Amino acid sequence: MASGAKNNSYRENVEKISKLSFAVGVYRPPSEGGSASILLRITENCPWNKCTFCEMYKGQPFVYRPVEDIKADIDTVRLMVDEIREVAGKIGQEGKINRDVLRALLSVDPYLNDNHCFSTVFSWLYYGGKTAFLQDADSMIMRPLELIEVLKHLRKTLPTLTRVTSYTRSKTLSQRKLEDLKAIREAGLDRIHVGLETGDDELLKIVRKGVTSAEQIEGGKKAMAAGFQLSEYWMPDLGGRERWRQHAENTARVLNAINPSYIRSRPFVPRQGTEIFNDYEQGRLHVSSPHDRLEELQVMIENLDVTSRVCFDHNMNSWTNKNGGLLFSQDYEGYKFPEEKQPVLELIREGLSIDESRHIDVKELIAMGSL
Ligand code: SF4
Repeated sequence: MASGAKNNSYRENVEKISKLSFAVGVYRPPSEGGSASILLRITENCPWNKCTFCEMYKGQPFVYRPVEDIKADIDTVRLMVDEIREVAGKIGQEGKINRDVLRALLSVDPYLNDNHCFSTVFSWLYYGGKTAFLQDADSMIMRPLELIEVLKHLRKTLPTLTRVTSYTRSKTLSQRKLEDLKAIREAGLDRIHVGLETGDDELLKIVRKGVTSAEQIEGGKKAMAAGFQLSEYWMPDLGGRERWRQHAENTARVLNAINPSYIRSRPFVPRQGTEIFNDYEQGRLHVSSPHDRLEELQVMIENLDVTSRVCFDHNMNSWTNKNGGLLFSQDYEGYKFPEEKQPVLELIREGLSIDESRHIDVKELIAMGSL
């Protein structure tokens, strides 16, 4: 068949695809597959939105989306999937989603690539259609029965999914009943990501996290008891030089009590447009040098008594080893504790033993305006 005749055979599919759209947000954790996850925005922005270090949803009102709208978005993804698969079949690639399929689609409509919904669905299929991330900042804020309805619909409509994950807050987890969390887990939510930041009550108040360490522990323990894979993110240097030790010790204390599946390090960077950036600029908060940050990390790790995986899966964990490479692996599965606690402490000692100027200093990055 000539190529013109060929692409006429799937022109109708492409026209249908280009008219489809669903809500996709901006943020997801790096460990959630890059372009390999389908992103679905089940609420919009953050219901709390008061943390002094966070710029993610500033000025954006929280929107509680109706269940019917979310289900309609899921149906739209399915329609897109079916159209793409039909085109794959028409060009002799039955069951495969590869570059030939993309070329065929773009030969009809080159602008399809600029359609964010299409790119999201195509990349997800290209990587096997296995994972979904439910956006935005706090999915557990949904009424449990509604979240369950969404999850069941998602699992039924997109049956290739093997993992569904989302963000939530410790405070919200602490307010949920264990039976509800179990039912949400059973309906198909596998993993939740929580911004712990610190376990120090004084610092939690200062950064206006809206939760106490007791609530963090309560929420985290409930999530683990409900069977979720729980990722807790902490922020080295959030307390600056002023509060580094209490931050390290109390963060370890809270994480020990929760014993989450994952502990992920996200070193603090004051970001322009946040309240904490003003504190930094006006000298009320002093960020630590690379060695001081490592010292804080050392205290936190020494105090950790968990069976979690401890991860440095973000480029702000930018310390250098003695050969000039990265000190820590940035693998999403990180280091298994307690087995790899001593090797991690050994790496910290290695980082402390080399000249401090060989590490990247957060102040240089801020000055360069690269963050
Ligand atoms: S709860 Fe999370 S998303 Fe909301 S303001 Fe705090 S850090 Fe930002």
